Amino acid sequence: MTLVEMGMPAVRSRRPALDGRPDTPALVDRFGRVARDLRVSITEKCSLRCTYCMPAEGLPPIPADELLTADEIVRLVALAVEELGVREVRFTGGEPLMRRDLERIIAGCHERVPHTPLAMTTNGVGLAHRARGLAQAGLHRVNVSLDTVDRLGFARLTRRDRLDSVLAGIRAARANGLAPVKVNAVLMRQTLAEAPDLLRWCLDEECELRFIEEMPLDADHEWARANMVTAAELLEVLGARFTLEEVGRLDPSAPAEKWLVDGGPAVVGIIATVTRKFCDTCDRTRLTADGMLRSCLFSDQEFDVRQALRTGADDAEIAEIWRGAMWNKWAGHGIDAENFVPPERTMGAIGG
Ligand code: SAM
Ligand code: SF4
Repeated sequence: MTLVEMGMPAVRSRRPALDGRPDTPALVDRFGRVARDLRVSITEKCSLRCTYCMPAEGLPPIPADELLTADEIVRLVALAVEELGVREVRFTGGEPLMRRDLERIIAGCHERVPHTPLAMTTNGVGLAHRARGLAQAGLHRVNVSLDTVDRLGFARLTRRDRLDSVLAGIRAARANGLAPVKVNAVLMRQTLAEAPDLLRWCLDEECELRFIEEMPLDADHEWARANMVTAAELLEVLGARFTLEEVGRLDPSAPAEKWLVDGGPAVVGIIATVTRKFCDTCDRTRLTADGMLRSCLFSDQEFDVRQALRTGADDAEIAEIWRGAMWNKWAGHGIDAENFVPPERTMGAIGG
């Protein structure tokens, strides 16, 4: 099987170009942005099969010897914080809870960089049993993905009947201080009518709900610009049941725009990646589960730090590869361009 058939990009290199880069330790790019938010994918495996993300059969497995080990992840996270100015780290996947050594990864990172917030994006399946241990290991916050509180709707969208486990996971996260719990919901036509019930549930459970416009990163390649649910459509649906008052983007590098619900203080967020793109203020840098650096979800350019790590590169060399990877970051995702081509890796293989 070729790399492309496995959903892996063909464009990989070890030494990025650094021409014109200013002499600064930070992860700057040619467009004046500085990356301070690190997303670390730790697995391609998942307990769900959301239609906007995974194929029904799951992603092709990453061979065990290509997956970064817990120690390698800890080393790279510490380096990113200590040498490159990263200020927040989020673990994602695939589903991070699929890794049995997740607690070890979190504890290792917390020990090396105790003042850096560690967060996780999870589907919440089985979180109820691990929330306490994760909090004790040093995890600060979780975002849980939940698209609907309708059991049938959930089972159809995720191809698994696990709604109860997710709801229990959210409650356990709150009970163990992994707060504030944010809930992420991808905007899909089939669950749009259920959005007000989801908002009601989140208000009652004191979770902050953020809707995300669907991006062309699904393994089944069914995304179509003309079909996608936009932020504007969602506002109409929510507006029929709640009074919404726009407050905008409180932090300029945060992707969610916010609306006060029924006079506040509760808010609902919308991450309108497609129709109100925010690439100009993007501060993300990404590490895949198999040890590739990516500067953007939508670029196929990857830089291999696994090989560097395993062939004896020291921290200074790895930091230089990382700086170069970010220096070459694109201006934006280009979804609306006529010649737009989705990246070869899909969301579950990059880490959202
Ligand atoms: N399994 C975990 C989860 O679902 O939260 C973490 C990985 S998942 C890829 C990270 C986030 O990406 C989730 O909030 C998910 O809803 C979102 N996501 C997946 N596919 C997407 C797509 N095509 N467009 C927009 N968001 C997507
Ligand atoms: Fe799994 Fe998360 Fe993708 Fe859903 S969005 S299939 S939970 S990785």
